[in-house]
Amino acid sequence: MNRRPPEQTVLVIDDDAIMRLMTVEALADAGYQVAEAASAEDGLAYFDAHGADLILLDVILPVMNGFEACAQLRARAAGANLPIIMMTGLDDRQSIVQAYESGATDFITKPLIWDLLPYRVRYALRANAALREIERSRALLSRSQSLASMGSWEWNCDGGSVVWSEELARMHGAGQGTGQGGTEALLAPVHAEDRATVEAALALAATHGKAYSIEFRIVRPDGSLRRVIEQTDIERDAADAVLAVRGIRRDITAETEANEHIRTLALFDPLTGLANRSLFRDLLKQWLPHAHKQGQRCAVLVIDLDRFKLVNETLGPRVGDELLKAVSQRLRERLNLPDDSGTGSLDEPGERLARLGGDEFTVLLVDVVDPHQANQVARRLVESLSQPLQVAGHELTIGASIGIGMSPDDGRDPDTLMRNAGAAMHAAKQGVQPRIRFYDEAMGAEIGRKLRIENDLRRAIGEGHLRVYYQAKVDLRTCRVVGAEALMRWAHPEGRLVNPAEFIPVAEETGLIVPMTDWLISEVCRQIARWRRDGLQPGPVSINLDPASLQSAGLLANVQQALATHGLQGADIEFEVTESSLMRDLERAIAVLEQLRALGVKLAIDDFGTGYSSLTYLRRFPVDTLKIDRGFVQDLGDNASGAALTSAVIAMGQSLNLQLVAEGVETWEQANFLAQRGCTLVQGFLFARPMPSDQFAALLGFTLPTAPLRQVAGGVSAAA
Ligand code: C2E
Ligand code: CA
Ligand code: CA
Repeated sequence: MNRRPPEQTVLVIDDDAIMRLMTVEALADAGYQVAEAASAEDGLAYFDAHGADLILLDVILPVMNGFEACAQLRARAAGANLPIIMMTGLDDRQSIVQAYESGATDFITKPLIWDLLPYRVRYALRANAALREIERSRALLSRSQSLASMGSWEWNCDGGSVVWSEELARMHGAGQGTGQGGTEALLAPVHAEDRATVEAALALAATHGKAYSIEFRIVRPDGSLRRVIEQTDIERDAADAVLAVRGIRRDITAETEANEHIRTLALFDPLTGLANRSLFRDLLKQWLPHAHKQGQRCAVLVIDLDRFKLVNETLGPRVGDELLKAVSQRLRERLNLPDDSGTGSLDEPGERLARLGGDEFTVLLVDVVDPHQANQVARRLVESLSQPLQVAGHELTIGASIGIGMSPDDGRDPDTLMRNAGAAMHAAKQGVQPRIRFYDEAMGAEIGRKLRIENDLRRAIGEGHLRVYYQAKVDLRTCRVVGAEALMRWAHPEGRLVNPAEFIPVAEETGLIVPMTDWLISEVCRQIARWRRDGLQPGPVSINLDPASLQSAGLLANVQQALATHGLQGADIEFEVTESSLMRDLERAIAVLEQLRALGVKLAIDDFGTGYSSLTYLRRFPVDTLKIDRGFVQDLGDNASGAALTSAVIAMGQSLNLQLVAEGVETWEQANFLAQRGCTLVQGFLFARPMPSDQFAALLGFTLPTAPLRQVAGGVSAAA
């Protein structure tokens, strides 16, 4: 960049007109614009009005002298960085010193060598531009240091002085500006506990040229803590001796906090503050090998709350959340864990509590002597969870089931151990109180079987492999079909017809039963409509309703739609519900049954006699029919007490004014016994097995064989 920008202006302030003239001559030739002022006052006025790129300023001026003018120029914002060249007398050392003190950039001695003046001016301008550039990049650096929250320093090892950036001072909370001092300037802000480390690292860097990167804390004068990371590099001379150590200190407080927060979110359950599944798994991963090496055993307890879903559904998720918190608190107390047991150091052995998700919790017991010890802890926990909890104004008793897996026997790695403890928990849920089970291998096989069924079943639903079979209900007085029960079958791709006993429990466990029931309802309605079109009268067809379908939000709308689509009345179908599924959530079940009944749908209690059979409850259910369980009917021939029980059940139903249907009638003796007691509606292999719809259609309208039937009260057929 040899060419000057043409607009650069030099202002000459000199009371000597000849000097001004000569200056104009010398500089105009070199391409500068030259402005003149004969006094300091005129010069300042000109500068204020027009500015200038450089000022040539004579020392000796009439009123205000050059030093004073220089100082005044410097005091102006526009003059702060202006190159000012003072013209002094030869050998006048005093003037030269004074010129610098008043802020001059440079000086020229008089008399001037005119040929050289343009060069002096040009260098002064160029130097000034370079200086501005350095200042600009320093500001930029400081700004970027500030943006990156980092400060830098340099330690000149032989001189011993440390120079640091403005941002470092700011990071230390030590005010503005760059600074200079000893290494103490770097060490003083360091947290007392970290100081020795930093000091040693710094010393090693200076003496042995060992660069470092360490994290430590800084305490600011206001007491606030910052976390920083310091990285150094070393400057050496040709002989490899350390000349200087340069360091960058970066404030990572916000970063660390964010990481901490992310870690918390990733590893802890926000609701209960307990470790989550992934942290628990990490813990196991860390502890199992260690324990095995020591010859110790660990136990994993998987805890599942018994009635949590019920609370969630009836009292709402907010109460559900409170309940989970209360449960975790109680578990902590029982295990004698501090409140922050989840967040404690991972390196210490001890009991650990985690929430696996939903209403499942887990506990790790380390150094367990024998299963008996694990069992005792489990008992203590089950016992404490069977005590009522005060939650959001409700007193809730929930109860829990616990499965236990012992390591190494039930798994040497976290996943196997947790899976097996989980399998034991599922087994425990099916058992009796106290519901605690240890894992055994059969459970693994059972889980595998269920998983296979679940997968196959999902496919079966998607590919339309479900079938409906119909079993006739027969009136013993007329020996005619008066209705049917719809029973699900699964046409397995292997060709066999799978019975509900095999897949309904899995469907219920996995929730698949709800869409299956929805499908069944519309399928049955379609079939009834088709029979009608064929001129057949099948009577009401009953559909089994499992607990989940009974509680499902879509049930009512689904029933309404199925009826409407096929032009049916509510009374064309009937739902069969077991007592135990009603008792799960009594109030809600009653509400749903009442809504169904409002549609005209009939309702029956299935497997009657096997559940609570409490008359008090039965009176509250809006039902039409009781289905006497097959077990009673089967006991009929065997002994007298069987007969007495069945008679009692029949009497109970009659006292409630309900219709009675006996299930599982296989012999004429059974049929006769029931008929004599007034239970004339029956279902059983004696008359018809469950069958496909077309075969069932063939039964409709026919009178079934009645030969062996004895006198039936009010009936038409009798035989010996
Ligand atoms: P359930 O509701 O008690 O149905 C009656 C069961 O007794 C049927 O078994 C039927 O085939 C059988 N049965 C009828 N008469 C006799 C007899 O004379 N002797 C003998 N030994 N058994 C007889 P299935 O079809 O195997 O169904 C078993 C259970 O599976 C049903 O018991 C019901 O609880 C469930 N289930 C079947 N289909 C469905 C369905 O669509 N939804 C739901 N939720 N459950 C279903
Ligand atoms: Ca049934
Ligand atoms: Ca039944």
